[in-house]
Amino acid sequence: MMKLWNTAYDAGTLYNFNAGYIANYEPALADSYNDSTVGIYLLNSWPAEFKAEALAVTQYWAQEIFSPTGNYYEIIHGDILVNYEYYNYSAAASGVTYKYDFPTVILHELGHLVGLKHVSKSLAPSIMLSTLGTDEVKRQVYTIDKELINTIYEDTALTAEDPVLGKFSKSEDAPQKRGNVYRGVIELMPSGKCLHYLNGKLVEEH
Ligand SMILES: [Zn+2]
Repeated sequence: MMKLWNTAYDAGTLYNFNAGYIANYEPALADSYNDSTVGIYLLNSWPAEFKAEALAVTQYWAQEIFSPTGNYYEIIHGDILVNYEYYNYSAAASGVTYKYDFPTVILHELGHLVGLKHVSKSLAPSIMLSTLGTDEVKRQVYTIDKELINTIYEDTALTAEDPVLGKFSKSEDAPQKRGNVYRGVIELMPSGKCLHYLNGKLVEEH
């Protein structure tokens, strides 16, 4: 799944590490995930702070950077949490009735982790639509997704619009001052709307 995003991006490598595996790590508090491991967690106990209906969330921590060339946020950590308590997933070759396609969910969340927002239904097909139905299988990065990922990282400074916070950039050499760290959360819902949270507060609903 990481490879699909890397292939979609022309100017470099978005995911330059291998996915590891950690079993039975399920802290109840969302903040406990802000550690040194960028991970995908399959949670049998879904943290109470997230909606029970959420299929999965991507949460990330970003630090405000004050720079002479303009302020921005730097992503310092991110994780994907999958709701295994309330949903059944399948990785079978074709869709399975009443189950959600696991590779589709992960590909979608990996898109958030590198900074993509949801894409409106009118631009479908896209892996970044805000909702997903059971037995819906979309294991590819579509043309619109490829365009978006290449647009937000079009310069070599890797600047992007963050879905929750605003402007992002990779670290730079210019003199800078570091500000507050914020935690953003984007939930993928089985249907209906998508919810964005900032430090636990709902900031966007669409
Ligand atoms: Zn999403």
